[in-house]
Amino acid sequence: MSNKTWRTATQLVHGGIQRSAFDENSEGLFLTSGYIYETAEEQEATFKEEIKRYQYSRFANPTTGMFEERMAMIEGAKFCLATATGMAAINTALMAQLKAGDRVVASRALFGSSLFILNNILPRYGIETVLVDGGDLNQWEEALKQPTRVVLLETPSNPTLDIVDMQAVCDLAHASGARVIVDNVFATPILQKPMEFGADIVVYSTTKYVDGQGRTLGGAVLFNDEDLLKNEMMPFFRNTGPAMSPFNAWTQLKGLETMDIRVMKHSENATLLARFLENLKGVAKVNYPGLQAHPQHKLAMKQMRAGGPMLSFELDGGKDKAFAFENALNLVKICNNLGDTKSQITHPATTTHSKVDEAERLHLGISQGLLRLSVGLEDVEDIKEDLAQAAQIVYG
Ligand SMILES: *Cc1c(COP(=O)(O)O)cnc(C)c1O
Repeated sequence: MSNKTWRTATQLVHGGIQRSAFDENSEGLFLTSGYIYETAEEQEATFKEEIKRYQYSRFANPTTGMFEERMAMIEGAKFCLATATGMAAINTALMAQLKAGDRVVASRALFGSSLFILNNILPRYGIETVLVDGGDLNQWEEALKQPTRVVLLETPSNPTLDIVDMQAVCDLAHASGARVIVDNVFATPILQKPMEFGADIVVYSTTKYVDGQGRTLGGAVLFNDEDLLKNEMMPFFRNTGPAMSPFNAWTQLKGLETMDIRVMKHSENATLLARFLENLKGVAKVNYPGLQAHPQHKLAMKQMRAGGPMLSFELDGGKDKAFAFENALNLVKICNNLGDTKSQITHPATTTHSKVDEAERLHLGISQGLLRLSVGLEDVEDIKEDLAQAAQIVYG
């Protein structure tokens, strides 16, 4: 059985395991949508919620349950709901608690699809959304003067690696009656635990560093409030069906086993590459929280154990040069996913943030010269050589 006093690396390997009658060592993969009842009476009692047992895999499944238990242990949260994708996690976290007339305040440096939900979907249901510059506490304070239901933020943010002061924002949010949701994809639970700074709900795209090898999609919603589970999250989750598939949960249980060593190595490689890029010809600016030059370096180091696995950098010469640079790379692949063992680069202005309007994009610091690099687990010298030869081709 799982032990809550285990340290993180041990939880990642053993957390949440439930063995079947076959005493298997590796986690069982229960590919089953339904479950058998001994009697019709037992089935009736299950539907009346008089007994708690597996009923239907849209609600719960043994493999997905092991994944949820392990994720909850690592985060230090009481509850976890595993979802089909990261966006399903964010949508569930928002929709389960919002109703017409509510107000949401969010940092504007968010994942593109999160911005789409806030700007295009929530207003259709009579929900007001207000966006602020996440690094500016005065804007948070001003926006949170009015009663607010939910605050959503991402730190570090995608793709500009901006940092939000979670403790300060959570204090302001709680004073205005809001629950705070933190999208912790870029830091991972290995480097940052938002609940230690007051977050009420933590969400993940487990597609990224939890899978870790670019295979499966997934997401997770984590929280401690039992009323939130019973009255809001669970009814929404059971009836709208964002559940994670057992196969993906099984793959991601395997991903979790190595997450600690992977994320630390990704972060070490990213730190070395950030310093390297600062001196590379054609690079105008490097965004990496682990660099002294990052404007919020001190705050980042207060919230995170290391600089993290992601960075972005701005090239001189706009889109033409950025595209030429990407096209000149050999080892680093052009790919809009992230969190893979393989290094991946993308041009946010024409991909992940192409649906954001130009003025807002520039306000976010997403210029035509910006490239986002998901630093892989290759030998860092090989990544450096690939970046250097691309710079040589583009800038001479
Ligand atoms: C990828 C990502 C998401 C969305 O996750 P999916 O699994 O692609 O649905 C949300 N937030 C951040 C920060 C991400 O990187």
